[in-house]
Amino acid sequence: MKNLAVLTSGGDAPGMNAAIRAAVRTGLSHGVSMWGVYQGYSGLIEGNFKRLGARDVGSIIQRGGTVLGSARCAEFHTEEGRELALRRLRGAGIEGLIVIGGNGSQTGAEALHSMGFPVVGVASTIDNDLYGSDITIGVDTALNVALNAIDNLKVTASSHSRALLVEVMGRKCGYLALMSGIAGGAEAIVLPEVETAPEQLAERIQNVYERGKPHAIVVVAEGATYNAEGLCQYFREHNLLSGYEFRSTVLGYVQRGAAPTCADRLLGTRLGSAAAEQIIAGNQGVLVGITQGELSTTPLDVVVKGKKPLPAWFLKAAEMLAR
Ligand code: ATP
Repeated sequence: MKNLAVLTSGGDAPGMNAAIRAAVRTGLSHGVSMWGVYQGYSGLIEGNFKRLGARDVGSIIQRGGTVLGSARCAEFHTEEGRELALRRLRGAGIEGLIVIGGNGSQTGAEALHSMGFPVVGVASTIDNDLYGSDITIGVDTALNVALNAIDNLKVTASSHSRALLVEVMGRKCGYLALMSGIAGGAEAIVLPEVETAPEQLAERIQNVYERGKPHAIVVVAEGATYNAEGLCQYFREHNLLSGYEFRSTVLGYVQRGAAPTCADRLLGTRLGSAAAEQIIAGNQGVLVGITQGELSTTPLDVVVKGKKPLPAWFLKAAEMLAR
């Protein structure tokens, strides 16, 4: 393999830059010319490529976001869009592609691979909903941002005797809510995976109030049946909470833009480098990730069909520890 390209796709995740840097420098160290594709699959279709040297990826390991840019590209869902992307790649003499991204991005990678083009995926999304890696690039940073916010909110909630419903990201996956809720000592956690009736939640918060706690922190996953504001509205309309004043706070994109933690820089570096090594060695059509603490490769067709469950022990512990 003489020419290898790398792209980032879907939602940006802190640590993507570390993965780009590691993939580029590992490829170069194997004597392969490295290329960056700008703006994800849109850039692939437009032929937005640039050759990358070691210095082009200097001083990026500490930065959030992605220096290659990312995009959501509807055209890549179509066969014609992907054919055009393939023509662009082949026209530039590129013989392999590393796709750094989450579920959707790996589905696109699998589609490209099934058309006969060598692709390797890198597990990267703050949602941690990707099958084939226990942990994905960006999760640790997003968790730490959420945790910092929860800690701060708890202080002000205590001063004012409030119940605060804190909404965290994660799309349809409750991983961020579950783990930040446990680490932040939340009184309750609302997840998409577990049905929670608003009446039940209100009763629980009321119970916390009656036990004399100066605050109640409820961490709500954005993909739950009721989001944080939806729950507040429900409580108001049904006159469900007395005692605490209650408010919702949506953390939103602040969780995505932070500088990567040490763990995400190391994970990005490990996976980015492994992706370059795998594709150069001829192991293609796989996702590189971490399984039980070790580097793993999982076929992309298995990745896109698989569903990753929430960690069972933490799910049980959430109930037990909120007292
Ligand atoms: P995150 O969940 O962290 O935002 P993601 O990779 O899941 O990341 P998506 O927006 O779902 O983000 O997907 C990114 C891009 O991947 C899409 O804009 C599209 O170009 C491509 N993609 C998604 N699904 C498919 C599919 N079924 N076939 C081909 N391409 C796809």
